[in-house]
Amino acid sequence: MDNYKCKSVGIVGAGIQGVCIGLQLVKKGISVSLFDKNEPGSMTSYGNAGHFSPYAVLQLNRPDILYDVPKMLLSSYGPLALKWNYIPKMFPWIIQYLKSCNKKSMLHTAKYMHQILNLSMDAYQEVFQEIDMTNLVEKKGIIYIWTDQNLKSRNLEIKVREDLGIKQKLLSRDDILDLEPNLNPVFHGGVLYEDAMHARDPYGITKKIFELFIKYGGKFIKSNVQSIKQIADNKTSITTEEKKYEFEKSVIACGAFSKKLTDQLNEKIPLDTERGYHVHFKNMDHLIKRPVIFLDRGFGMTPMNQGLRAVGTVELGGLTNPLSKKRVEYIVRCAKELLPQLSKPQDEWMGFRPTLPDFLPVLGPSSKNKNIIYAFGHHHLGWTLGAITGKIISGIIAEEKTNLDLSPYSSKRFN
Ligand SMILES: Cc1cc2nc3c(=O)[nH]c(=O)nc-3n(C[C@H](O)[C@H](O)[C@H](O)COP(=O)(O)OP(=O)(O)OC[C@H]3O[C@@H](n4cnc5c(N)ncnc54)[C@H](O)[C@@H]3O)c2cc1C
Repeated sequence: MDNYKCKSVGIVGAGIQGVCIGLQLVKKGISVSLFDKNEPGSMTSYGNAGHFSPYAVLQLNRPDILYDVPKMLLSSYGPLALKWNYIPKMFPWIIQYLKSCNKKSMLHTAKYMHQILNLSMDAYQEVFQEIDMTNLVEKKGIIYIWTDQNLKSRNLEIKVREDLGIKQKLLSRDDILDLEPNLNPVFHGGVLYEDAMHARDPYGITKKIFELFIKYGGKFIKSNVQSIKQIADNKTSITTEEKKYEFEKSVIACGAFSKKLTDQLNEKIPLDTERGYHVHFKNMDHLIKRPVIFLDRGFGMTPMNQGLRAVGTVELGGLTNPLSKKRVEYIVRCAKELLPQLSKPQDEWMGFRPTLPDFLPVLGPSSKNKNIIYAFGHHHLGWTLGAITGKIISGIIAEEKTNLDLSPYSSKRFN
């Protein structure tokens, strides 16, 4: 095994990012302690739509979406919702978001999302080779459908992907019905990403990766982390409710909860959350063969082991507001619009997409503490980006050379 300089690392957060980072580090022979107050993979990495979406380079910082926002907000049954009590707290994020809703910023985000998304599937395949993946993943493509109401936006998405060389197959309404005959034809067209795959059980996959991490000698400490500090040139500390631990380097991978720790380090990183929801329709996963996303509604359905998971919407409402029944009702209504045969849903769930206003993650050392490494802010794509984040962050810690341009992901961009 190579003789890396760094010998010990503490990672806070055992979502898909933390678990994948831990695995790559222990495989390099570095001693790793992974901290989480919850079971590994049980938070946002559990409830997502399970899409592996390497094509999804275009994010929500786009000028075309901006014009639709007021309309979406005024409708109580739109894909975007606000918790009005949270808006004053989210104001700085909103201002920065508005500033990055322009063509230049949109293309910058697309370019640097593409850089890492393009490597994301190979990174997972490497991990999956060491795991029994029976019933956990299916490769049947992913379909996006739409009505002809926002064709300008659809054409923009198609063009940006085309320019980046992303494989996509445009579909007519009949093509979609050939692929998914049970869908109610309320749409006019769509696109298929033929090579895309989806998780049938995201939680099951994270647990398997976690078990592999433990098999390679990783340690798990179930505890609530209160603070992280750099205490000497090559020493950091992680303090839990019970105890203080010391490591050469520490990683913050707490998803949407990372800001609590970065604020303590005096870095003003404008991380916030886009809340998303899901419900399950038990034993209904046979109704579609692959994930179907209805872009006009900001919602999708994925066939999973737990049932047909109807998932989506964006709610700006922070980390402490309770689940909104109206959002759940919205998802149920959208699901029944496409599949009227669905009956009663179960398992109402809300999760927290960790999102920066420019829709790029933060990957790399803290600008104030070089031995504290950040790995959060993967917004709508954190599931897809887990394995590649593991490789990038472990490479930074092991001081490996990389051909990637990592500067756009630095937290320095907010200083
Ligand atoms: C509705 C919805 C659908 C989505 N669909 C997709 C999709 O189809 N494809 C895709 O690529 N992405 C999707 N995403 C995004 C993706 O799920 C997230 O980006 C990803 O799960 C974030 O992973 P994470 O490891 O950063 O955070 P998390 O999974 O939230 O993990 C963070 C961990 O940190 C722990 N933690 C936090 N603070 C502390 C502390 N102080 N002490 C100890 N532990 C702490 C938490 O307990 C948690 O376990 C979706 C998200 C949502 C909400």
